[in-house]
Amino acid sequence: MTQRLVPDLVLTDAGWQSGRVVVVEGGRIAALEHVHRVWPSDVMLTGKALLPGTVNAHCHTFQSLLRGLGDDLDFMSWRDRVLYPFSEKLDRAGIALGAAFAFAELLLHGATTCVDFFYLNDDGNENAEAVIDAARRVGIRLVLARTMYDWEGAPRRYCETVADAARRTRALVAAHAGDATARVQPAPHSPHGASPAMIRAGWEVAETEQVPFHIHVAEGRYEGQRTLAEHGATPIRYLDALGVLGPRMIGVHGVWLDDDEIARMGARGAALAYCPSSNMFLGDGITRIPELLAAGVRIALGTDGGSANNRLSVFEEMRMASLLQRVRLLDGSALDAERAFAMGTRAGAALLGLDAGVIEPGKLADLVAVNLEDPSLHPRTDLLKSVVYAMSPRAVSDVWVHGRHVVASGRLTTVDERELLARVLELTKGWSISTAAR
Ligand SMILES: [Zn+2]
Repeated sequence: MTQRLVPDLVLTDAGWQSGRVVVVEGGRIAALEHVHRVWPSDVMLTGKALLPGTVNAHCHTFQSLLRGLGDDLDFMSWRDRVLYPFSEKLDRAGIALGAAFAFAELLLHGATTCVDFFYLNDDGNENAEAVIDAARRVGIRLVLARTMYDWEGAPRRYCETVADAARRTRALVAAHAGDATARVQPAPHSPHGASPAMIRAGWEVAETEQVPFHIHVAEGRYEGQRTLAEHGATPIRYLDALGVLGPRMIGVHGVWLDDDEIARMGARGAALAYCPSSNMFLGDGITRIPELLAAGVRIALGTDGGSANNRLSVFEEMRMASLLQRVRLLDGSALDAERAFAMGTRAGAALLGLDAGVIEPGKLADLVAVNLEDPSLHPRTDLLKSVVYAMSPRAVSDVWVHGRHVVASGRLTTVDERELLARVLELTKGWSISTAAR
């Protein structure tokens, strides 16, 4: 089926253009043509601008169900009183519901791709398949970062042997190799959640399957000291010594890196999934983004889990990425809107290996329409800067993923939002940290 989208403005590599029709076919952008005439079947996006959909490079979808439970705790208290006990309460249906809930909110906020760094594996792939199924139903593009975890201090359901984790991850990657809207990539959890053998195994799966791998690294200050004590090197040096620091690595957070570690990430071609709001929310610190960019590190943006942010919007992360560097460097020009926007769109897609994040022929038809009548986009000075710094999530009116119109006039077309929220309320009824199992 061919669709012709006719917005007032469309953002291309050549900037904002008017008088264009975006032709969508088979999930991709087939052409970007001048409007010569309008057909009755054209989708008229009058008063709207069309942008590439945003890419959420790091999330834990089930955590949306934990939002608000331990918001003002320190990280260790949150982990022990909220994350561990409440993640034990979720059966497969609960996991799928949490995923659908997070995907719905992300789509409504203009995110067309989500990485779900998923670790409630229960010694199998069925829970991950339930998340993949939820993504398909709600209509978001998914990269399931299939976690490989063997630190025994965490709930049993996170943990597997190295051999099982590698075998199951490989099987899941293969099962979705031809999937149009869902992919699987390995994710050895972190230097503290995965043993050296597990990290190596994750890297090997990435190498043989020719996909990236995801790993949390240097999020809190304590991690560097712990990795140094346990493995004799700070996190990036440790990963380099393991032989996994390279172009397939997507490090998540990277808050506590010294100059040499930043230089090594650049030299080895590693990438970063940066989660500025989460880093603020958890009191982690400020990642040195301009330095990482200067070293040649590719950087995408992530929201992190819904209970560590607590918003799910990549547009929000663009704004936060820029503001945080300004306050760190006392410099209003530290990270401009164009760079922040690129991190949340094309850079994110590129580092995940997706043909998206840009509106041009051949790219995936993952698109967002914003309402130019929204007050937050006035006055009409520099529209891209307004999108990054001023736009309200209310302005997101329509979203397409793989050419499927999944949000229309601010409403999901794929699932009943009221029913979804009712199910979330039902599942979480009575939850509070005083009712936690431990
Ligand atoms: Zn994370």
